Amino acid sequence: MEFDPFPDPLTYLPWLAAMVVTGLIARAVRRGAARPRRRAYLCSGCLQSFPAASTHLIPSFSTQLDNYVTTFRCENCWLRSLDETQYQLRAETADEAHRRKLVAFFERYGIRGLSAENVLGLLAILDDLRARRRVLPLPD
Ligand SMILES: [Zn+2]
Repeated sequence: MEFDPFPDPLTYLPWLAAMVVTGLIARAVRRGAARPRRRAYLCSGCLQSFPAASTHLIPSFSTQLDNYVTTFRCENCWLRSLDETQYQLRAETADEAHRRKLVAFFERYGIRGLSAENVLGLLAILDDLRARRRVLPLPD
């Protein structure tokens, strides 16, 4: 067996490439483990992002969509926004179709058994949200 003092670099290229790729994957895994991604939510009140612990999910009436939509609000904005939702509901108490939209919203979050005819029941859910007796889950 002869010793080749000047081996052809192309012979080792696949091994070198495999080592580089393995190193990059290992580094990416280490970085991912060291810094887990934290989900942030954009507050539609102040347009700043906040971690889940400082975010409230509440219904908000969109006149554009003519429906209740999911909104994320920060600690500073959520009560004012909940006031607006409550005001909107009170303003539309004669409109059962409007209340049905809020019932549908709550059903999307697993709150069952509500009736569009029961305005007080809907207002009670909003009070539960305000008092933090009930919390609508943030999406994963
Ligand atoms: Zn905010």
